[in-house]
Amino acid sequence: MNNKKSIIHAYAAQEAGAQLQPFVYEMDELDANEVEIDVLYCGICHSDLSMIENEWGMSQFPLVAGHEVIGKIAAIGSKVQNLKAGMTVGLGWHSGYCGHCYSCKTGDQNLCSQAESTIVAHHGGFADKVRAYASSVVAIPEGLDLEAAGPLLCGGITVFNPLVQFAVKPTDKVAVIGIGGLGHMALQFLNAWGCKVTAFTSSELKRTEALELGAHNTLNSRDQSEIESAIDSFDFIISTVNVKLDWNLYLRTLKPKGRLHFVGATIEPLDVGVFSLLGGQKSISASPVGSPTTIEMMLEFARLHKIKPQVEVFPMNKINKAFDYLKTGQAKYRIVLSNEK
Ligand code: NAP
Ligand code: ZN
Ligand code: ZN
Repeated sequence: MNNKKSIIHAYAAQEAGAQLQPFVYEMDELDANEVEIDVLYCGICHSDLSMIENEWGMSQFPLVAGHEVIGKIAAIGSKVQNLKAGMTVGLGWHSGYCGHCYSCKTGDQNLCSQAESTIVAHHGGFADKVRAYASSVVAIPEGLDLEAAGPLLCGGITVFNPLVQFAVKPTDKVAVIGIGGLGHMALQFLNAWGCKVTAFTSSELKRTEALELGAHNTLNSRDQSEIESAIDSFDFIISTVNVKLDWNLYLRTLKPKGRLHFVGATIEPLDVGVFSLLGGQKSISASPVGSPTTIEMMLEFARLHKIKPQVEVFPMNKINKAFDYLKTGQAKYRIVLSNEK
């Protein structure tokens, strides 16, 4: 079933910042290790917006974004063994790995320097179909709500992976900065992980909701005196914001040996003094999404603990309306595009 060409109906930006327009492209027969997925749902991550606007300088146009895909395997390459036609699967930021570098061989495929991204020089999931190498596609466990599961494939794994990488303990006090798509999932994961959870938000309206999502208390992320009230409190802070905040002040809210971990793509350089780290032996780090194995672990954890992204569903053909909604900060908390409606 791999010896056919495909016509794919997608939505593309023809240049940086452009409205998304219907875009039809043709693909040759599948590579032996590839699969083709019929897209059911695709979440909108802030990274899709950053790529469409070419904020990171690596976008190629026409650009088909979308990297939080839930779908069904429509066709498989001749060498694919881990997936079968008709299976319900997920695809996130990566659509392939080199498979033979040190990171790939040691299970850190998300750190592979040759990894292929679903939306960089590759057409993504804002479409009726998307292709990917089978090594990057994961089966979705029974029992997850498919309409809401897409955001777990990028946003969810991005905030879950640091808990695994840095062995966050249930007795740790952890703060999340920014309660958007990533942040609202982080609160749910951390609460289920057993941690004492603080939500830093710039939105007064989100404070009550953050408590419902799993935070034990909330602070204003832009209010100096509220941040100062938490000095020497946290073992771990996950920042999901893409803006500059007072990082030296946030470092003071860490306990000795604490860590400020960035997953939000803040473009402005960090203006951190070594002395903010040195006395308390504090660390700063960052990470990209997670490996396929960690994604599977995260999906199972989400199923077990009933962790569910809060989504607002738009039909795929209302994609521009959905992006306007995201840009104006109205999304609560993740928009999902649906081919089912
Ligand atoms: P999002 O839904 O737009 O959420 C971002 C949140 O940041 C907002 O909800 C807001 O939270 C906060 N924020 C925005 N502007 C702010 C400001 N001026 N001051 C203070 N807080 C502000 O975005 P997302 O999809 O969660 O993505 C977040 C970031 O992670 C993006 O940069 C994205 O590119 C990046 N990302 C990275 C990875 C990775 O692998 N590392 C994966 C996915 C996404 P409040 O309303 O609570 O203040
Ligand atoms: Zn590799
Ligand atoms: Zn993403």
